[in-house]
Amino acid sequence: AKIKPDATTTMVCGYCSTGCGLKIHLKEGEAVNLSPTTEYPVNLGMACPKGWEALSVLDAPDRATTPLLRGPTGELEPAAWDVALNEFCDNFKRIQSESGPGSVAFLSTGQLVTEEMALLGSLAKFGMGMLHGDGNTRQCMATAATAYKQSFGYDAPPYTYQDFEESDVMVLVGSNLCVAHPIMWERVCRNPHAPKIIVVDPRRTETAVSATEHLAIKPKSDLAFFYSVAHVLIREGWVDRGYVDAHTADYDGFAEFVQAFTPERAAQASGIAVETIEALSRTIHEGQRVSFWWTMGVNQNYEGTRIAQALINLALMTGNIGRPGTGANSITGQCNAMGSRLWSNTTGLLGGRYFTNEGDRQHVAGVLGIPVEKIPTEDSWPYHQIMEGIREGKIRGLWILCTNTAHSWIHQSDARELLGKLDFLVVQDMYHTTETAQLADLVLPAAGWGEKEGTFINSERRFGVVKKVRKAPGEALSDFSILRLIAEAWGCGEMFKEWTTPEAAFKIIQRLSAGLPSDITGVEDYADLDRAGGAQWPCTEKAVDVDQQRRLFADGRFCHQDGRARFLWEEPRPMPEPPDKEFPYLLLTGRGAASQWHTQTRTSKSAVLRKLYPQKPYVEIGAQDARREGFRTGDRVALTSRRGRIEVGVTVSPTMMPGQLFIPMHYDVTNQLTLAHFDPYSHQPSYKDCAVSIEKA
Ligand code: SF4
Repeated sequence: AKIKPDATTTMVCGYCSTGCGLKIHLKEGEAVNLSPTTEYPVNLGMACPKGWEALSVLDAPDRATTPLLRGPTGELEPAAWDVALNEFCDNFKRIQSESGPGSVAFLSTGQLVTEEMALLGSLAKFGMGMLHGDGNTRQCMATAATAYKQSFGYDAPPYTYQDFEESDVMVLVGSNLCVAHPIMWERVCRNPHAPKIIVVDPRRTETAVSATEHLAIKPKSDLAFFYSVAHVLIREGWVDRGYVDAHTADYDGFAEFVQAFTPERAAQASGIAVETIEALSRTIHEGQRVSFWWTMGVNQNYEGTRIAQALINLALMTGNIGRPGTGANSITGQCNAMGSRLWSNTTGLLGGRYFTNEGDRQHVAGVLGIPVEKIPTEDSWPYHQIMEGIREGKIRGLWILCTNTAHSWIHQSDARELLGKLDFLVVQDMYHTTETAQLADLVLPAAGWGEKEGTFINSERRFGVVKKVRKAPGEALSDFSILRLIAEAWGCGEMFKEWTTPEAAFKIIQRLSAGLPSDITGVEDYADLDRAGGAQWPCTEKAVDVDQQRRLFADGRFCHQDGRARFLWEEPRPMPEPPDKEFPYLLLTGRGAASQWHTQTRTSKSAVLRKLYPQKPYVEIGAQDARREGFRTGDRVALTSRRGRIEVGVTVSPTMMPGQLFIPMHYDVTNQLTLAHFDPYSHQPSYKDCAVSIEKA
């Protein structure tokens, strides 16, 4: 029966980084339905299927409702919270006393609220003495963060969503907005300037089909391609030398370097004709407001940092930054990837500071009122080094929160073997059925989005509030509450006595942000954020008093000490595992549909979302290859890489270029094939290039 709501409240969605505002319909304080918020400055009344279905996944029967401890029979069995907390502390303390404090690590996520991330990172490192912790944002946004830090001096995406509607030229690289960020694509569709939209992507994606032009670049030829665009801009005298001289450094070295990247050389590498490269350069030159956008096609790439910087270089050399409709703009993945990048205290000290900088450590210790000796003096290992640390026996205990490593980590069978080697694995999650929870020694039942409060930071740097509109099932608790209980049980509760509620933690984060590019000291409280429709950082006035569409670097001053942005470049490197006779196809992976999310941990719980997406794994192949191989849509095929063999259905698809195959990342078989290799600067896994063979199963 339909339930008539008696009140509404607003909050942001908890899936992707768009950060749509949702109006939650309440009956006696409990959410019964939702609809998109029309007045929220992000989504303007729109939501994608995941947002519409956000409440239904909370009711799944496999929610973790009590702590689960692996018993003598080898099965996970219900345990009381005090028993679970004792097991947590006893096992991790035992491991630390035997092998040192750094022998226990944590893996977090871009799905926790900012306040929980900051508390987790502080508790683990300052309270429990851990050295190493990272998040699943390493799989998603680390490249963008690293590229911005090196180029701009801070992890500072410069744009606001209004820019989607103000550009007259948009270059989208490795970004399938239609599917991955459908509401952002809706904003592009509202652009009244008839923009030229150029999609650079090996696949003919939904976005490529809708663009002005699709450049089906050969995989991993991005650097040569974009360096040649820079080459043509310089050759033709189309560089904004006034901007370059006033606001950047190292341009001359870059200009000399790209002399070798002639369009002819790039055409050979990329498969894009010389005339097309020259035409793209002219389009960029003639545009009044040119913007460059990228997502996972760039980030999940062994050369990702330098590719992102190749785009940043193009924006800088043409003066397309800091003005409406411009920018070199990374589109984030998860709802709080930006929170994780700045406030998770994993590989960077709180606020985007550095563990290795004594001044930073002194400052954070002073604000938090803790002894500076409690702050590690070395950087944390990134995700893949933590995994290697398990292999080498240096990491023996692991605490995984809200991420599904056993499904999503690259070269999955290796990852599962490593998790199985741990002395003690704790998984804190909403569901006890994830592939990772099934391997745990202890499962801690966590509340999900809608069952707790805090803030997310979206792609355009906007803090938005989430609220408790449902009671978590059984004995599940918010991650914030679990962290506070662990602090008490561990014996370091005193250190976190000020962290009483998420909003109290937000005040601490505000104090830590003072003077940083991400300063948010002006926000009054959650209510201020709520009234204003969120607030983009920096925000040094009340949120309701600031313009809701603000971009960075309008004054041409960047975050390096000299105020100048850097040009950065590097010679392209060959693919580590190119197709060959034995494995003749290149396998690409990525998002399959707007209705599914990552490892389907949540979205598979919605009957509506399941109907919108094939439940059985499939591989896309181009018509030409399918004809040669004798495949028709619906055939069963086996895919084999040097790491594994899987069987899936085949879909003959116009999206695919010859010699390439595509599998969505949402299926747990996908990463049985992928090759573990990483960008050397961001340490992000390169998921989209491994050699495979295909045959009828
Ligand atoms: Fe949620 Fe992203 Fe969909 Fe918006 S686009 S409703 S933030 S999943």
